[in-house]
Amino acid sequence: GFKSRVSVIGSGSWGSVAAKLVAFNTLNLSSFHDEVKMWVFEETLQSGEKLTDAINRTNENVKYLPGIKLGKNVIADPDLDNAVEDANMLVFVTPHQFIDNICKSLVGKVRSDAEAISLIKGMEVKIEGPCLISTYISEQLGINCSVLMGANLANEIAEEKFSEATVGYRNNREIAEQWVQLFTTPYFMVTPVQDVEGVELCGTLKNVVAIAAGFVDGLDMGNNTKAAIIRFGLREMREFCKLLFSSVKDDTFFESCGVADVITTCFGGRNRKVAEAFARNGGKRSFDELEAEMLQGQKLQGVTTVREVYEVLRHRGLLELFPLFATVHEICSGCLPPSAIVIYSEKKNIFP
Ligand code: NAD
Ligand code: 13P
Repeated sequence: GFKSRVSVIGSGSWGSVAAKLVAFNTLNLSSFHDEVKMWVFEETLQSGEKLTDAINRTNENVKYLPGIKLGKNVIADPDLDNAVEDANMLVFVTPHQFIDNICKSLVGKVRSDAEAISLIKGMEVKIEGPCLISTYISEQLGINCSVLMGANLANEIAEEKFSEATVGYRNNREIAEQWVQLFTTPYFMVTPVQDVEGVELCGTLKNVVAIAAGFVDGLDMGNNTKAAIIRFGLREMREFCKLLFSSVKDDTFFESCGVADVITTCFGGRNRKVAEAFARNGGKRSFDELEAEMLQGQKLQGVTTVREVYEVLRHRGLLELFPLFATVHEICSGCLPPSAIVIYSEKKNIFP
């Protein structure tokens, strides 16, 4: 019978873990070809070796996920066209700022019957307005795109510590079940939800809340303040989702992609970590500088999302209804000091 062929586009820390999860299943399920190609944005390591060669030699992503075997059936490939050739299941997992170029170079290269899934937390803001990454992939490549989001710090899943995730799908339950099957392992529990916009926007917006939580940590304000900021953030996430898509379901916020991802990212994520350093430095060192210094090539999604969310709200004249989101942007851009996170969000908060 027909066997599905899976390619993973992206090989950062989460990209590498995604390849590991998928490769475990393609080996064990007869409906998939064993081999999983993983597209690598090529770079030369300090040793002089190419990253792709190092991954294929050691079976580890020595730069973005060192110490974790990906599975022998993961094949790193620096050539994007080659990496997606013949694949009918495409997993997109790059930082969101690169998806535009990747999609443009993939036009006409993917199978017309391919299905995609996006693990990317972010959005595109075009002149016409905001566009979800899954919608962008779908429109650019002419294929359907689901999403997988959740409380998924990559390093923890890499060590096979239990976590769960949410697959968001548009209308084809069977396709959603295939993605669930492809990602589920004994330590990774995946639940399908028919609310692609809600699931994806939760994953995108929680990064804004995580930056606010990082500011609170950097100001040593304690757990109660952080919990309050998380609650304000969740409330604004819900309002923002409903503003963009009235179809978004309340239940989605109680899935892994919602409150659970907010919690894990506000405690253990990179956005939180760098935001804490930003606040400790009184906002005097930029996020770009701190990211480069602290993350060894890994990329934050939150800072661009903060700006993108702000643009959407400003364009619609709704900034006043989103005091937390607005304040995070004003702090990131240097208009307000980090300490404004509490005073301003609290004063301006008006949702019941
Ligand atoms: P990462 O931040 O660990 O690594 C950065 C990646 O970007 C590397 O693979 C690097 O090669 C690549 N890159 C650098 N310049 C590039 C360019 N010009 N073009 C294309 N690629 C380039 O990556 P990640 O953590 O795998 O993040 C991918 C997505 O997954 C993000 O949207 C992130 O929010 C999401 N995510 C991450 C985690 C996590 O814990 N790391 C968990 C869930 C979701
Ligand atoms: P950070 O990018 O802040 O590390 O968050 C990772 C994540 O999305 C966890 O689900």
